[in-house]
Amino acid sequence: MLSVEEALDRVLTRVAPLATERVDLLSALDRVLAEPVQAPFDIPPWPNSSMDGYAIRSEDVRQAFRTQPTALAVAGTIPAGTVAPRPIAPGEAFRIFTGAPLPQGADSVIPQEEVETDGQVVRVPRPVAAGEYVRAAGEDMCAGQTVLEPGHPIGAAHVGLLAMLGRPQVRVFRRPRAAILSTGDELVDLGGAIGPGKIPNSNTYSLMAQVAQAGGEGMNVGVAADSLEAIEERLRWGLNADLLISSAGVSVGEFDLVREALTRLGAELHLWQVAMRPGKPITFGSLGARPVFGLPGNPVSAMVTFELFVRPALRKMAGYRTLHRPTIRARALAPIPNPGRRRGYLRVTLTPGDRGYGARLTGEQGSAILRSMVMADGLAVVPPDTTIPAGGQVTVINLK
Ligand code: AMP
Ligand code: MG
Repeated sequence: MLSVEEALDRVLTRVAPLATERVDLLSALDRVLAEPVQAPFDIPPWPNSSMDGYAIRSEDVRQAFRTQPTALAVAGTIPAGTVAPRPIAPGEAFRIFTGAPLPQGADSVIPQEEVETDGQVVRVPRPVAAGEYVRAAGEDMCAGQTVLEPGHPIGAAHVGLLAMLGRPQVRVFRRPRAAILSTGDELVDLGGAIGPGKIPNSNTYSLMAQVAQAGGEGMNVGVAADSLEAIEERLRWGLNADLLISSAGVSVGEFDLVREALTRLGAELHLWQVAMRPGKPITFGSLGARPVFGLPGNPVSAMVTFELFVRPALRKMAGYRTLHRPTIRARALAPIPNPGRRRGYLRVTLTPGDRGYGARLTGEQGSAILRSMVMADGLAVVPPDTTIPAGGQVTVINLK
């Protein structure tokens, strides 16, 4: 049986980022940036006022005092969107508004609340430092500076910044399309009647949702009965996707036919069993250039193996630099047992406290108990045959 690390290594060495495409700025939201972005000019492009007030020369008001203000002649007005008609001369002030460029020769702004004026003359009651209430040219970004690196998702601030740089379009990675197949004679799809011995197909939907959250696009190819022909046929439907994900039918029973169906389609399989709980049986292979994952059928196992193997692969294909969830160290609030010879990925809630986060099992950990996943804030990673005692430290993969 492979370790999780070795299995993940086999997966990640076989997936690569997809091609890139240019999209309109607003369509780039939540996509992964595929090009470095440089500032073509300084931002702000010129020194400008951060207040409504008066642009002045600091050296003119060095002697100013509350009881003996320095009088400066108001030489003109600079509303935002305009420039001063000429440089400032000694002994002058320009009325200036927030965002307007400082006149040449001015080095500071005194806010209007601090001065007295009759419109002709402004009285400054204190010395000002050069640069006061001035946003320097290039204070945000300098010409030529790389301000965004590829591999990061584009958020609202990134969109604003790209607009600031005058970019109506931006290059992003193509979103991976993942075909999702559920297998099993017992499965009834949403809306169908659940007869004796049948259960609802939930994996298709949890996996579609996980794909979307990982930055991909799910493509539902339905439910295949437990026959080689049915599984092969549905897998073929997924061949125009960038990757395939199936669930169930990868264990050791006579009806576990996914591996054989994949092989018959020409897939090369790179792994099967991984030393983890839940989720020991998991298949990963290549079908042409396409990664294929055969996840286990139990609803929790399918989700946890998606988390550990499919999500990082999908993120790599989607161009993300960061492939993994952050882990934290938490304190067990009650014992967290992991009997057995496989590493446990146990569902826990995380509660913030004075001494960091406290972790507690969500309850029964059966791999069919999907509520354990619903309640989980994270997956506690517990070595084989180990019980983390109450108060003990445990590593938790933060799912939130
Ligand atoms: P298998 O690996 O085919 O033996 O399936 C393991 C368990 O997962 C069985 O109890 C199945 O009924 C259940 N299962 C398989 N596929 C799904 C699915 N799509 N949704 C919910 N449960 C499933
Ligand atoms: Mg089955």
